[in-house]
Amino acid sequence: MFRPVSIGIILAVLMSLASCKSKGQAAVSKPLVASFAPAVVLEEKVVEVKPDTNQLTPQERKVIFLQKTGVHPEWRQAEAIHYDVRKPNFVIIHHTAQDSVAQTIKTFQIPRTKVSSHYVIGRNGEIIQMLNDYVRSWHAGVAKWGSIVDMNSCSIGIELDNNGREPFPDAQINSLMTVLDTLKSRYLIPDNNFIGHADIAPSRKNDPSVFFPWKKLAERGFGIWYDEGQLITPPDNFNASDALKIIGYDTANLKAAIVAFKRKFIVRDTTPELTVYDKSVLYNIYKKYQ
Ligand SMILES: [Zn+2]
Repeated sequence: MFRPVSIGIILAVLMSLASCKSKGQAAVSKPLVASFAPAVVLEEKVVEVKPDTNQLTPQERKVIFLQKTGVHPEWRQAEAIHYDVRKPNFVIIHHTAQDSVAQTIKTFQIPRTKVSSHYVIGRNGEIIQMLNDYVRSWHAGVAKWGSIVDMNSCSIGIELDNNGREPFPDAQINSLMTVLDTLKSRYLIPDNNFIGHADIAPSRKNDPSVFFPWKKLAERGFGIWYDEGQLITPPDNFNASDALKIIGYDTANLKAAIVAFKRKFIVRDTTPELTVYDKSVLYNIYKKYQ
């Protein structure tokens, strides 16, 4: 778990890497490792990071480790000067399956749990940021969406304080909308890339639950919903499994993918079979991905 100051340190180091390349010096054949002179800005004071001392925090060590392992000195190094840090392109929504924000914060701060999220939103609408948007939170676990198998690397994780058996209060959803608005406009995240944990891990996860208001979110441009008045029976050659796969679902366990789809779009029925009505909903959504 990164404390806020540690997040600042990591970004300061990352930005120092960026700034040291922005002075128009096109270094040729110079190892990138050697050119990294990490400086940490702490309370407006620039201090040198000494990689070989025991004074470094685990986070600082990790940044230095990444600086070294992200470069392959066996190959010629010719640094480009135009870059910045990678941005999130998905938002994954969860429910905590816990009883309070305090419990979730504690869970994310205990070393043995190895889980985290960028944001936790309380039932009362309180928004708690636990990780900087630019770092990789451990919220997705083993997951797949389309051809992406490392969802943690491309997504922001948002946990809603909810035990999984209760509705989500308006105050909480309103705060979620605020966070989503901010993330969408800052990182230009596409509408369809606001999805749930169960979407990307249908065999393992069921969050957010059937109580989650996906339709309301889609109306605001976060996620997708079907055209309720325009459902038609799909053609005879419509392949439901292929449609789920095209939307993004991992259909290795087709029944699990169907349940995940129905939990989100059908809600009242989450059995692992597609009825004629379910197929008309799936067909409508599938057409939006063509
Ligand atoms: Zn989850």
